[in-house]
Amino acid sequence: MQATTPVDPRVLDAMLPFYLSRYGNPHSRTHLYGWESDAAVEEARARVASLVGADPREIFFTSGATECNNIAVKGVMRFYRDRRRHVVTTQTEHKCVLDSCRYLQQEGFEVTYLPVRPDGLVDVAQLADAIRPDTGLVSVMAVNNEIGVVQPLEEIGRICKEKGVPFHTDAAQALGKIPIDVNQMGIGLMSLSAHKIYGPKGVGALYLRRRPRIRVEPQMSGGGQERGIRSGTVPTPLVVGFGAACEIAAKEMDYDHRRASVLQQRLLDGIRGQVDDIVINGSMEHRYPGNLNLSFAYVEGESLLMGLKEVAVSSGSACTSASLEPSYVLRALGVEEDMAHTSIRFGIGRFTTEEEVDRAIELTVHQVKKLRDMSPLYEMAKAGIDLKSLSGVGEDISVNHVIVLSRQSASIVHLFTCQVASSQAGN
Ligand SMILES: *Cc1c(COP(=O)(O)O)cnc(C)c1O
Repeated sequence: MQATTPVDPRVLDAMLPFYLSRYGNPHSRTHLYGWESDAAVEEARARVASLVGADPREIFFTSGATECNNIAVKGVMRFYRDRRRHVVTTQTEHKCVLDSCRYLQQEGFEVTYLPVRPDGLVDVAQLADAIRPDTGLVSVMAVNNEIGVVQPLEEIGRICKEKGVPFHTDAAQALGKIPIDVNQMGIGLMSLSAHKIYGPKGVGALYLRRRPRIRVEPQMSGGGQERGIRSGTVPTPLVVGFGAACEIAAKEMDYDHRRASVLQQRLLDGIRGQVDDIVINGSMEHRYPGNLNLSFAYVEGESLLMGLKEVAVSSGSACTSASLEPSYVLRALGVEEDMAHTSIRFGIGRFTTEEEVDRAIELTVHQVKKLRDMSPLYEMAKAGIDLKSLSGVGEDISVNHVIVLSRQSASIVHLFTCQVASSQAGN
C-alpha cells in the first residue's frame, strides 16, 4: 500500500505523444488535433470503465480521488438535501472523506462515523442498523490506505440496495489491485486515482451510476465538460496515462497480486523469524498483500524510522516519509497507544524486488534489536515487570511511519529526457 507509485514506463510512453505533438484541446472539435485528443480521451474512458465493469458514460475524469470523494459525498447530499439529511461512513476513511463529512455537518447534515472491529473491518450488521429513512449516502472505502484491509463491498452493496441508499466507495487503493465490479458490488459512486496504479498524478475518475441514476451537485462551475459533473479542460496526456495504467492493470493484476503475496510473506516471515513482540495491524485474511503494517513493542518509533531511513535513502532503493500525527486508523482499531506509536507501514508494489524486501528485513531487524538492547522497557518486560501498571509509557511519542518499497525508476527520467531531446531535434 503506497502513498503513491512511480509511473510505469509503459504509461509514460503512452502519454508523451500527447505532450509533444498531439496537443489538441479535446473540446475543440473543429480541427484534427481536437478530434485526435477527443478520441484518445474516449479510449481512456473505456479502459477505466472496463477495469471496474462500468459503462464508459458512467466515468467522469477529475483531478484525483480527493476531488471524487468531495463530489461524491458533498455532491450527493446537496443534490438530495430536501429529502436526505444523514450520511453513514466509518472512522477509518481517508481524510478527504472524513473532512467532507465534517463540512456537511457544518451545513446541518448528520453523520454517523461507524467504528471498525479490531481487525479493521466494518461490522455489516452495525452498518445496516445505522441506516435511517433519511440516510442519503453510505460511504465505505474499498481498501484502507494504512492497513490494507479490504472491506466487504459486496455485502455493503447488498444492504444499501435493499435500503435504497446509494453506496459510495473510495477505491483509490483498490483499483487494479483487487477485482472490482460495480454491478456485482452494488456500487453507486466510486472514487479512483491514477497515481496509485502507476499512472500520473493529478488525474482520477468518478464512477457515477446511470441506472438507477444517481445525481450530484457539481463542485466546479464552468464550461460544462464531463457532462457538467466536472467543468474544466480535460488534461488529455494525464487521462491517456490513466487509461494506459488501467489497461496494464487489467492484464497484470493477477500476476502483481501473486507477486505481492509472495513478497509480503517473505517480509513477514523474515522479520518475525528474528524478532518477537510484533503485532500485525489489520486483518491478514481480508487484506491487499501490497500492505504490511506492523507494530514493534518496546521500540521508540522515531528512532526506528531514523534507522530505516538512513539506509533507505543511501541505498536509493526505497523512499520513506513520516507524519507527525498519531494514526486515527490504528486508534479506531483499538491499537494501544504505545503500539500505535511504533507502527511501520510497508508498501510492496509492482517494482519492488526480492532484494529490496531482504534489505528491509535486515534493516528492520537490526534496528529493532539495537533499540531494544538500549530499552529499559524491554529489559523490564523480559524481567516480567508489568509495564501497563506504569504510567506515562510512550505517551509523548506520536509518529507514524511509512516505508514504500519501490524501485526508483531512474530509467523513466532518462527515457523522458531522451524523448524530449529527440523530438526537439526533429522539429
Ligand atoms: C491517495 C488516496 C486518496 C487521494 O487521492 P488523490 O488522487 O491523491 O487525490 C484518497 N483516498 C485514498 C484511500 C487514497 O489512498
